[in-house]
Amino acid sequence: MENSHAQSFDILIGGGGPAGLATALSFARDGWKVAIVEKAPETVLADPSFDGREIALTHHSRRWLEDAGVWEKFPQECICPMYQARVESGDGGSSPLVFEAPQSLFKRKSVSEEGEGKALGWLIANHLIRKGLYERVKEEAENITLICGHSIFKTRHVQGGKEIEAELGDGEKISARLLVAADGRFSHLRKEAGIGIILHDFQSNVLVCRVAHYIPHENVALQWFTEGRTVALLPVAEQTEDGRYQSSLVLTMSPEKIDHLKACDEAEFNKEISILTEDRYGPLALSSPRIAYPLKAVYAHRFYDTRMALVGDAAVGMHPITAHGFNFGLKAQEILAQEMLQTKDADPGNAQALRKYCHKLRIATFPLFAATNAIGAIYTRDETPFLIARKAALKVANRLRPFKNRIARALMDA
Ligand SMILES: Cc1cc2nc3c(=O)[nH]c(=O)nc-3n(C[C@H](O)[C@H](O)[C@H](O)COP(=O)(O)OP(=O)(O)OC[C@H]3O[C@@H](n4cnc5c(N)ncnc54)[C@H](O)[C@@H]3O)c2cc1C
Repeated sequence: MENSHAQSFDILIGGGGPAGLATALSFARDGWKVAIVEKAPETVLADPSFDGREIALTHHSRRWLEDAGVWEKFPQECICPMYQARVESGDGGSSPLVFEAPQSLFKRKSVSEEGEGKALGWLIANHLIRKGLYERVKEEAENITLICGHSIFKTRHVQGGKEIEAELGDGEKISARLLVAADGRFSHLRKEAGIGIILHDFQSNVLVCRVAHYIPHENVALQWFTEGRTVALLPVAEQTEDGRYQSSLVLTMSPEKIDHLKACDEAEFNKEISILTEDRYGPLALSSPRIAYPLKAVYAHRFYDTRMALVGDAAVGMHPITAHGFNFGLKAQEILAQEMLQTKDADPGNAQALRKYCHKLRIATFPLFAATNAIGAIYTRDETPFLIARKAALKVANRLRPFKNRIARALMDA
């Protein structure tokens, strides 16, 4: 094992996923001594493999990543600005609801580069985000201790409640004044603290992969809802070696259908997805591994316990339809670090600051969490009244510019 575990830290983070790594950077910037315990080996963090997720980052997230020195770690040719998002009812593209960045934002120069403000957001593959965050964390080795290949097994309060002690699977112990649970949506640490969740099981799975095509995507994200499925085509920056464009295909269907599409041979897959995408980009060809995820959204009843805070998917695990899980993860750790910096007693486990964190994060996330679940549910019901209501809603909503601008602003978080 690389590091000694018999140590005490200000902050101990359980989970070195994107939310945990970002949390470590914020706390280290503020001068706290931080440790991360991650169950995967360090080689996985150093060079994560493609996991199918293309993460749409908001303006706010981009600014945080720039300030933290992470944005510059991303291969710039892999960042895809998204200029338009179209939501359709799935009858060949009629009556789309079209979102673009509201004109008023262009004047405000909400991001650092000219012209970039016109983007609704930026798409970057999740494994590149994880790699960039890891590289920045390694540069902060003086303040951040990374302990990989170990899980936090159980925790207890010590020193008269002034510290929390974590026991790793191998019996080693680490103490800290604040434990941050960043161990994903099925968080063991959250459960161990007795924090319940709202669980929304959509009874469907999502399949993600890259597909190549000759028709350009023009940096537009397409999403449509049709009987028994939701289909999205998200623009990808990199082209194939033979010059074809690439998009990320995101298919939501019953677990049985997703299992079939994941397992069938490539020729059959290409044929089926070209039909499923209604030939919008012509014939599609698989250009990456196919990866499936179960669709379950979770929302913790509270985001803290004594000397403990939840961040990332452990706090709010979103349905990917509104592309906000990681954006909320970044926001959570930002609020948490700010609250701890403002405590008068310089105690990063300050109970009042934890309560404030919980309150602020709930305000920042609950409306979109609830709206996303409602969209996810309404758009997966195929009874005739739902189909008619969906079409009518898209038609009406597309004519309401102030409404559209409000939604676009909320999704961009500019
Ligand atoms: C298909 C898809 C598309 C998405 N698209 C978007 C998007 O466009 N925009 C967006 O913002 N978000 C998106 N998301 C959501 C985003 O991917 C997640 O919100 C984000 O990855 C969550 O990061 P995390 O660090 O909280 O959790 P995770 O990535 O789950 O990381 C948790 C980490 O904790 C470790 N761990 C678990 N248990 C322990 C333990 N006991 N001890 C130590 N370590 C432990 C795990 O090994 C893992 O590394 C999408 C998700 C999916 C599935």
